[in-house]
Amino acid sequence: MSMIEQKRAKAFENKIKRTIERYGLIDKDDKILVACSGGKDSTVLLYILHKLGYDVEALSIDLHLGEHSSQNMDNVRRFCKKHKIRLHLFDIKKMLGKGIIELDKESRGNRSGKGGRKSRKESSICMTCGIVKRWALNRKARELKATKLATGHNLNDESETVLMNLLKGNPEIGLNMGPMTGGHRNDKSSRGFVQRIKPLYFCTNEEVREYSEYLGFSVLYEPCPHSSNVFRRKIRRELIELEKEYPGVRLRLVKNFLKLLPKLSKDYGAGKAGEKNIGVCELCGEPSRNRVCRLCSLVNKR
Ligand code: SF4
Ligand code: ZN
Repeated sequence: MSMIEQKRAKAFENKIKRTIERYGLIDKDDKILVACSGGKDSTVLLYILHKLGYDVEALSIDLHLGEHSSQNMDNVRRFCKKHKIRLHLFDIKKMLGKGIIELDKESRGNRSGKGGRKSRKESSICMTCGIVKRWALNRKARELKATKLATGHNLNDESETVLMNLLKGNPEIGLNMGPMTGGHRNDKSSRGFVQRIKPLYFCTNEEVREYSEYLGFSVLYEPCPHSSNVFRRKIRRELIELEKEYPGVRLRLVKNFLKLLPKLSKDYGAGKAGEKNIGVCELCGEPSRNRVCRLCSLVNKR
């Protein structure tokens, strides 16, 4: 690493440290699990939290998304072994009997069977994958008694999601965003959920990649070949163009959203009209706003 590279790497690490401190993401007695997909973001996050001396372990779920998953899981195993980080690796087939591809095919059949244009429009492997990942990560993190679940979402991901939510016209969808989910650390309505933190919140995709490449991490840089979220892809393209023309637009978007978040919470958060209390799913026992959670509805247990 050249001197300049070292300086840039240090500046990147300091940026993450500042986010952790400014938003109070980690307490000294926290047990942190990093949700590791094997990609650059979660690998960089795991490395830096470990380097900063936090009590950190890796949590990975093999989603069975073909060769992409196998390579990612191999990379996670090797990385954790090399850096002497404890890895908890779970297999979605053992947890649910099927991988994401099969689950998606089945639920697509069920949804189109129940009819309607809307069902087909909503069919997307990313939607299935998102529901499964959220459910599995929360369940395993709670079973492993983690007090924080850290994810590798970066500024690019967050700015895309903010814009998508705004354009969908559902402000309450954004309540669970920000560097710490919900921002309501002791809120009873979040019981059963392991607090999520996003220390890479203000780091761009390019910065994370640069750091990962400097350190020679063995990770896949190609995006998941199954990606099917057309809306996100469009927003991503627009934001890339906007960022070229108006540098800093992503950061301003996200910072402005954070300014609005307390007001959103007040207007749409727990206890407000229309906001359902969080109970537990009667089938799997995971936290859910409905009698049956999205995962159980998806795998069609009833
Ligand atoms: Fe899952 Fe879609 Fe992400 Fe691939 S791109 S890992 S299918 S959410
Ligand atoms: Zn359930």
